[in-house]
Amino acid sequence: MTKFDLLIKDGYLVDAANHREGYFDLGLSDGKVVEVDPELNPDQAADVCDAKGKLVFPGLVDTHVHLTHTRQAVGFQMLARAGVTCALECGGFVEDVIKGMAACGSGISIAVLNRLDPGVSISGPDAAKSELIEYLTQSLERGAFGLKLLGGHLPLSPETTSTAIEVANQAGAYVAFHCGTTQNGSNLNGLMEALELTGSHRLHICHVTAYCRGLTHGSAETEIMMALEALAAHPHLVSESYFGPYNGTLAELENGVPRSHVTRTCLQRGGYEVSAGGLVAAARDGYMRVQKETPRGVIYLEPKDGAAYLKKMDFKVSISFPVNRRSTALLAATEKDDQGRFIVTALATDGGAIPRNFLLSHGLSLVRFDALTLSGLVHKCCWAPARMLGLPNKGHLAPGADADLVVADPHTHESVLTVAGGNVIMSDGLVIGSGGTIITTERGAKALRARGVQAEVANLPGSLFYNAPNS
Ligand SMILES: [Zn+2]
Repeated sequence: MTKFDLLIKDGYLVDAANHREGYFDLGLSDGKVVEVDPELNPDQAADVCDAKGKLVFPGLVDTHVHLTHTRQAVGFQMLARAGVTCALECGGFVEDVIKGMAACGSGISIAVLNRLDPGVSISGPDAAKSELIEYLTQSLERGAFGLKLLGGHLPLSPETTSTAIEVANQAGAYVAFHCGTTQNGSNLNGLMEALELTGSHRLHICHVTAYCRGLTHGSAETEIMMALEALAAHPHLVSESYFGPYNGTLAELENGVPRSHVTRTCLQRGGYEVSAGGLVAAARDGYMRVQKETPRGVIYLEPKDGAAYLKKMDFKVSISFPVNRRSTALLAATEKDDQGRFIVTALATDGGAIPRNFLLSHGLSLVRFDALTLSGLVHKCCWAPARMLGLPNKGHLAPGADADLVVADPHTHESVLTVAGGNVIMSDGLVIGSGGTIITTERGAKALRARGVQAEVANLPGSLFYNAPNS
């Protein structure tokens, strides 16, 4: 008689939430973990995965990804390949994610934040409260998890920013902020302003290191220490940082200049004109990397090809600049407060369809560097982010938890097997999962299910987002 649909055998299991680390077998059935034991009988399993010599982690929960800016939604595949089984899409729109998931889904779960895009989703940078409430209500009813404020790229006035955070809190929705307003850019001043504008409300501060590039307070290292001190003084907020040396932004032009303020700052910093010509020159020189979608994922083009592609696509492409310091990535990933809590709640990637899904590759490098323990890494990539989103059955592997896991090679730092909901969705680089689940709120679940979209309601009221530092 088979007791398990799948048995993960002889792997080295790291489950930070349940303080379990060592050689354990993991029995999965009906999409759940049913047994964890040093020795489970393979005769009782329909299928057995030999994880000898491998690490077994809960499925990675990435609280900052982008999936909607590519035409083929290849980001879903890239995430499954990187060992991610659940993610927060930080830009939306939820409609685009649903379409992408139907066409190119890899079996993972996604919560979606709809962006406040001045001139597109709201009237402009000074949108009134009533407009914000209306947009949020519509977004939630269509299945979105909350709002994304893209202040660094598309700034809103400080007042509209603060009102948007308030409105999302009052509705019990999620809200994440790429700091910056019409008053302050995407820099340390922008982060400090964000902390003030938020007050006692709840907020997810995106990619902490992005404000620490030495633009306003001397060195990047000085700025990250100031940022961490400020975040430690605001323990009711959640935050994440990522490892990638490259940022991610858009080349898209509006009246002859890049629409994104981040793109403008990066061009200036490199000594380039803030114009179409400046973009082409920066691409040709290799300072700016141009992203291109391929069937296997998104890649960075070589400089000459990048400049040509930029023109061919009429500047409607994603681009990256090498502006993230290694020192700030290290500190944001590892620093703790005086109570021993990580100051930055989670490790994320700002990846998905941007080629920097580095949780395993760089995270395990930090373990080798003795900057994180295995358990600390799993805490920051699995358990803490699952709690941020109000998903108590994810991010850990006790009996009863969702059967989401990743088997990783400790030498190559790559995922060799990704399992979501008990199904193998990726094996040795080959993605075999399809479809997926939208993580949503009570207000969106019914509409999603009525459309045939698989939906799961998160416990946002009980989440770390609404209860930090405790939940
Ligand atoms: Zn982002």
